[in-house]
Amino acid sequence: MIRISAFLLVAGLALPVTCHGEESSSSPLLVIGIDGGSWRAIEPLIDSGRLPHLARIKTEGAWGEMRAVPPLISPALWTEAATGRPRSEHGLIDFEISGSRVASSARRVKAIWNILSEEGRKVLIVGLLGTWPAEKVKGVIISDQALNKAIDRRAHPPEALSGFGPFPAWNFTHPQQAWRLRRLLPGGSPREGDRQLAWMFLRDESLLRAAEHHLRRLRPSLFWFHLWGVDYASHFHWNDPEFLARYYEFADEAVGRLSRAADSGATVIVLSDHGFEGYVPQDGDPNPRATGRHSTDGILLARGPGIRPCSGVKASLFDMVPTLLYLQGLPVSQEMPGRVLYEMLAGDPPKAEIIASYESNRRPPETVPSAALGEEERRLLRALGYLK
Ligand SMILES: [Zn+2]
Repeated sequence: MIRISAFLLVAGLALPVTCHGEESSSSPLLVIGIDGGSWRAIEPLIDSGRLPHLARIKTEGAWGEMRAVPPLISPALWTEAATGRPRSEHGLIDFEISGSRVASSARRVKAIWNILSEEGRKVLIVGLLGTWPAEKVKGVIISDQALNKAIDRRAHPPEALSGFGPFPAWNFTHPQQAWRLRRLLPGGSPREGDRQLAWMFLRDESLLRAAEHHLRRLRPSLFWFHLWGVDYASHFHWNDPEFLARYYEFADEAVGRLSRAADSGATVIVLSDHGFEGYVPQDGDPNPRATGRHSTDGILLARGPGIRPCSGVKASLFDMVPTLLYLQGLPVSQEMPGRVLYEMLAGDPPKAEIIASYESNRRPPETVPSAALGEEERRLLRALGYLK
């Protein structure tokens, strides 16, 4: 059960939607996923001027709440956002399924990048959970396993990783990273308990560099990036606002860097798969160090030529694909339970064309490669409470 805090009232989430008219146009779509991003943390940081890029999107664009349906398991939620379909239909329900790493080849429905590829649009997907093995698309997929050299099909095409593999940032002692780690971690080096946060940062920074490079080169119709570290920092540092603020500053920097690397006419959408709230572990809790836990109220911010200034949007993860399809001028499938977020769209948007399904020409299922989780990952997922 989620308590509605005074903050939500201050943030306007309990107020009716208020929007202002603006003219319509279509533009490249930049989707930036901040895993676990929460208004409870963001709002005070925007107020104190520490998140300038998110502040600008909020001031000039549309914003509100992104609602998630429990259980709040990130690969299931991100796949709901990317397919528009519930996990009972898409099938990617956890990090590990039947002893194997979650695999895109086990997904039973198309993701937005499959649909857009088939429509001849270029896509660039980077780091999103559940995208390994990288599927063949028109464009590039750098999977969530891009840095895991123990397994194959980390990216499509494989050469998309050249120049990034081994990623220079994938090194705790690399001089270019030392100052960043100093900013993120007390003492400038990962303490035992924070080694996993350093792992997250190096993962996020590595994927961010690859994303910036391919974004400039590829000019995709749809770009989708996944930043993971805010989630980890929120689990274990929720009661240390300064510590948490530093990872949020990095997330904000990522939004700025990706916006600069994209076409200046891009529409930027920032969302989280779930929010966060304070938490006191009970006796025998598998996560005795945790101070924060997932909540169903995530974030949504959007700004660009397709978006009008608007506050109090109430969205669900299922609304992402219908809205992205609409912004690409494509019909919405009646199999998708979500809706087009018309209230945040510019102009006087006509209703979406509805089709029965995008699945009719679905390719035959691929062989599912089986790969066990690595030891570092297993430790991380155990710390987050996903594995026993
Ligand atoms: Zn989490």
